[in-house]
Amino acid sequence: MKAGVLYQNESHLKIEDVNLPELKPNQVKVDIKCCGVCGSDIHMTIHKQVRLKHYPTILGHEAAGVVREVGENVTKFKKGDRVVIASGLGCGKCKQCLGGMHNLCADIQVLGAEMNGAFAEQVHIEERHLTFLPDAIPFDQGAILADAVSTPYHAVKYVGKIQPGDVVAIYGCGGLGIHAVILARALGASKVIALDVDKGALDNAGRYKADELVDVRSVKNSGKTLQELAGGVDLMLDFSGHYSNIEDCIRAMNPGGRMVMAGISKQPFKIGFPFMVINKQISIAGSLGCDARAIPELIELYLNGKLDLSTSITSHHPLEEVNGCLEDLHHRKGNPIRFIITPNGKV
Ligand SMILES: [Zn+2]
Ligand SMILES: [Zn+2]
Repeated sequence: MKAGVLYQNESHLKIEDVNLPELKPNQVKVDIKCCGVCGSDIHMTIHKQVRLKHYPTILGHEAAGVVREVGENVTKFKKGDRVVIASGLGCGKCKQCLGGMHNLCADIQVLGAEMNGAFAEQVHIEERHLTFLPDAIPFDQGAILADAVSTPYHAVKYVGKIQPGDVVAIYGCGGLGIHAVILARALGASKVIALDVDKGALDNAGRYKADELVDVRSVKNSGKTLQELAGGVDLMLDFSGHYSNIEDCIRAMNPGGRMVMAGISKQPFKIGFPFMVINKQISIAGSLGCDARAIPELIELYLNGKLDLSTSITSHHPLEEVNGCLEDLHHRKGNPIRFIITPNGKV
């Protein structure tokens, strides 16, 4: 089959013919219809910030497709079923996995990083990592449920514990944060404030109907701006990884407010006045990926008409164009949210 393969010390994928190993028991062979191009693919390629455990590896971790063949012991799926593949694959045996929290599994493998991924015509994957994708949801929107939408969903709903009527502020409206905007809206926020340094990202947030758009570079103190715009914030989510203004943000929080850190950063994180956190009983929590609840619940939201993700699909491309997509995403050329690779041709 044809696949986009990352070799050690390379910054781009090589499109080449790869032999798939034999289908093992419990595994399903999926024809990949759509696979999203994610910011983390840039970290593994152009930036080379993320080293993989082994090379060469086929990248691609946001995928949906059709079951082509099932291995021994597979009971839930059959040929022709439409499916979404989870991007974080827990061991299935530890306490976290058995409790549905595979994102917290110590042995988690990420599709297209620790194991071969979906910038490929086919993937072999254990059936427990698959979710049925209803006919009503197109493959491209189904594919991005696996990460771009499920990661912010977990942050907004389960870590951020959003309540109807909450004022929600979202720092960083790239591939993940932009979906926090639509999700906060779908889950009952009374006001959504989007903050970014990139005009294109703010335009996208406006398209997803954020109430207020704040260009962080144009304001002196974003905490103060938040207070002016909304009085106070109940839920703040950071997807930018720039925590230097955390102090200002704490000042803008309402009593009982929750702050969720989802943006990865190597910057130090410092709170000079812990009294403010205690006095207002602010919760500050990290959020990592998503657990087993996310994809089925997102499908439900979609079917209830609360989650139209068509705005997120920037354009569709054959596998041969994946490196161009990585470059364009890196340079934010054309203000993309998600480029979609279609390894088996147009869908
Ligand atoms: Zn991703
Ligand atoms: Zn586990």
